[in-house]
Amino acid sequence: MKAMVLDEICSVEDNSQPLRFSEIENPSPSEKEVLLRVLACGVCHTELDEIEGRTPPSFFPIVPGHQIVGRIAAAGKNASRHRLGDRVGVAWIFSACGKCKFCRAGNENLCADFRGTGRDANGGYAEFMTVHEDFCYPIPEEFSDAEAAPLLCAGAIGYRSLRLSNIGDGQSLGLTGFGASAHLVLKMVRHSYPDVAVFVFARSEKERAFALELGASWAGDTTDTPPHQLDAIIDTTPAWKPVVEALKNLEPGGRLVINAIRKEERDKDTLLSLSYPAHLWLEKEIKSVANVTRWDVSEFLQLAARMKIKPEVEEFALKDANRALIELKAAKIHGAKVLRI
Ligand SMILES: [Zn+2]
Ligand SMILES: [Zn+2]
Repeated sequence: MKAMVLDEICSVEDNSQPLRFSEIENPSPSEKEVLLRVLACGVCHTELDEIEGRTPPSFFPIVPGHQIVGRIAAAGKNASRHRLGDRVGVAWIFSACGKCKFCRAGNENLCADFRGTGRDANGGYAEFMTVHEDFCYPIPEEFSDAEAAPLLCAGAIGYRSLRLSNIGDGQSLGLTGFGASAHLVLKMVRHSYPDVAVFVFARSEKERAFALELGASWAGDTTDTPPHQLDAIIDTTPAWKPVVEALKNLEPGGRLVINAIRKEERDKDTLLSLSYPAHLWLEKEIKSVANVTRWDVSEFLQLAARMKIKPEVEEFALKDANRALIELKAAKIHGAKVLRI
């Protein structure tokens, strides 16, 4: 089959072709796995983190990609959950042990044996892939293949971050950073919590205008002060300054949810400006979001279908995956980037 593979960690700045277009052997499903004919695979910032070594793959060569829509092309001899031809999705969670205390409590995202699709197992930048039958989900028919792909990452993790914010009707929610995940969170809030007011902090004027268009009550720059303090804030930026600013804007007992796989070292000094009384005192909380569970993904897909979310997508051929990644790095964004396979 045709696939885009990563042979080693490299800097995308020095190497504009980090992935190699190649012919590799078709995977075959083990007993409880299914074989998917990949139809579409989203392109995510996490792929840049894998390529550049911030979240390094566990083997090479590896096929990246973790927002996969495909059809069941074959099943292992003990796999009976899906029918041949069913359209299913695969997300970042490729597998977890199923036995540890985290898995048993429904927190499989925290499992020590958590495996990420396209990082610890071959992913969807290819014509075929295999996955355990319990780790793929029916795709609601409301969505085209390309529309469904970005929902599997930005949407599902946005859904998890909103759940972790503990927001309730009548409260106020802040969003600092306004990318793919945050804008889906704003849409979810407008749909599921009509009485929650949303305050958006974004550096770009265009993003602030977009937030207001989508129903935010207020939009300001990262360091602007909102009209009143907020019950919860979700941070999706890679920087530290928005964290310090957000803590200042929280109500007593408020919660800051950091939805970022990593934070850059660049502005870490900002943390020295933390003042205990201004930023932490009065039971303010900080919580990070890690990975997703199967429950997050399947619940979110159902919610997205009810909400009639239509992500804007820009399509690329499989062999143009490098170009899609370079444009993503340069923040040339015209909707979510998706490979059509
Ligand atoms: Zn992703
Ligand atoms: Zn486990």
